[in-house]
Amino acid sequence: MIDDAIRVLAGDCTVIAENGDREEYRGRVTTIVKPDNTVLVHDTDGYQPVAWLTRADSVSSDRTGDFTLVAKKDTQTLRIAAHEQDGFAHYPSSAAGTPIGTCPDCDGTLVRSSGVHCVGCGDEYGVPADATVREDQCDCDCGLPKMRVERGLAFNVCLDRGCESLDAAVKEAFDREWDCPEPDCDGDLRILRRGGLIAGCEHYPDCEIGFAVPAGVVDGECGCGLPTFETASGIRCLDATCDRALEGPLESDAAADD
Ligand SMILES: [Zn+2]
Ligand SMILES: [Zn+2]
Ligand SMILES: [Zn+2]
Ligand SMILES: [Zn+2]
Repeated sequence: MIDDAIRVLAGDCTVIAENGDREEYRGRVTTIVKPDNTVLVHDTDGYQPVAWLTRADSVSSDRTGDFTLVAKKDTQTLRIAAHEQDGFAHYPSSAAGTPIGTCPDCDGTLVRSSGVHCVGCGDEYGVPADATVREDQCDCDCGLPKMRVERGLAFNVCLDRGCESLDAAVKEAFDREWDCPEPDCDGDLRILRRGGLIAGCEHYPDCEIGFAVPAGVVDGECGCGLPTFETASGIRCLDATCDRALEGPLESDAAADD
């Protein structure tokens, strides 16, 4: 379910903003309290709030007598007291994002913001930042859209990791595909998740070699022997600290001077 709410208080209010000095306003205003405790007091004049406090440490309200709302952050205090209340409500709210499909559970709209969530039922799916989800792609059998993610190859997998695992697909394609580059180590690189997806030596912890799998497609071999990846920012080695990606494989040293 959607837990986040935007609180709205409208009415004839006194607004007192204190931060060393003290400003007082009176007017028929609308106050919005966002889920991150940002408080915005809007009047009819111009587009800017008449008073605000971003990401307050605390926002408390008292409904006995005149309705009051007090927001505090460090040395700042914002007090709103309603003399005559036109409305007070909590509205369920979600992040807004690009629509990318339809929720198979509730027919609500799926949108992409930091992750993907359903505006209807609030279901959330964590997706990598570089994943693309397009409405013209075929849906998964479960009804959810698929995402395209580049991790050595371009994978099309379900938005729901529980339905179709990106990790399993990358593992299937690249587990033990590459040799550990450590000179005195005969290990293979295994695909595993430690925070992000990494290619790490099978002899860990004796050998601590491990590289985050880049967001890109394998397109060749680096001068160091590891694969190179074509990424949004250019060709790079699996080892982000290696600068030999443009040399080509070990056999050819022609471009070594570039
Ligand atoms: Zn839904
Ligand atoms: Zn699925
Ligand atoms: Zn190793
Ligand atoms: Zn390299």
